[in-house]
Amino acid sequence: MNTTNTDLARILVTREAIQTRVGEIARQIDHDYRDASRLLVVGILRGAFIFTADLTRQLAIPHIVDFMALTTYGKRTTVGEVRVVMDLREPIENEHVLLVEDIVDGGHTLSYLQRMLADRNPASLRTCVMVRKRRENALARIDYLGFEIPDAWVVGYGLDYADRYRTLPFIAELKPEVYRK
Ligand code: 5GP
Repeated sequence: MNTTNTDLARILVTREAIQTRVGEIARQIDHDYRDASRLLVVGILRGAFIFTADLTRQLAIPHIVDFMALTTYGKRTTVGEVRVVMDLREPIENEHVLLVEDIVDGGHTLSYLQRMLADRNPASLRTCVMVRKRRENALARIDYLGFEIPDAWVVGYGLDYADRYRTLPFIAELKPEVYRK
C-alpha cells in the first residue's frame, strides 16, 4: 500500500464520499424501478466489479446480477477497439436492464454497449456510471452518475493502471510520470 501510494498525485473521491453516493444512487434506482417486476443489473468487468457489488447490496428492489467482460485493444491509457470477451448468460429481451460502468471518458465504450444491448430489445436500458471525466461532446447517455472528475488517469475502486491499484478504497489521480513511463 505504501509503495502504491507514492504513485498517486491526489485522492479525488474519498471512500466515505463513494459510500454516501452509492447509497444515494441505490435509493434513486429503488424509486425509479418501484413498478418493475425485477431489474437486471449488468456490471462491466473488470473495472465495475466493486461498484456493482456495492450498489447491488444497497438495492431494495428485486434484482439479478450478471456481468460482461470487455477488452480494448490499444494503448494502456487510451481506448482502442472494444470487444466483448464474455457475454451475458441469458437473453435480455423484455428485461429492465441497468448497465453499470466504472468510468466514462469520451463515451465510446458505453455508447458501443448501449447500441449492442438496445439491439437485444430489453424492456428498458439505463446506465449507471461511477465517474465521468469532464468533456464536451461525450457520446454516451448516462442516467445515474457518481461523480464528475478532472481529465487525468485515475485508479482505485475497481479502476486500474496495468492491472494495479484496482482495490484501493478511494479514487485517485495517478502521477503522470507513472503512466508516461
Ligand atoms: P471511453 O470509451 O469513455 O473514452 O473510455 C472508457 C474506458 O476507458 C473505460 O471503460 C476504462 O476502461 C478506460 N478509462 C478511461 N479513462 C480511464 C482512467 O482514468 N482510468 C482507468 N483505469 N481507465 C480509464
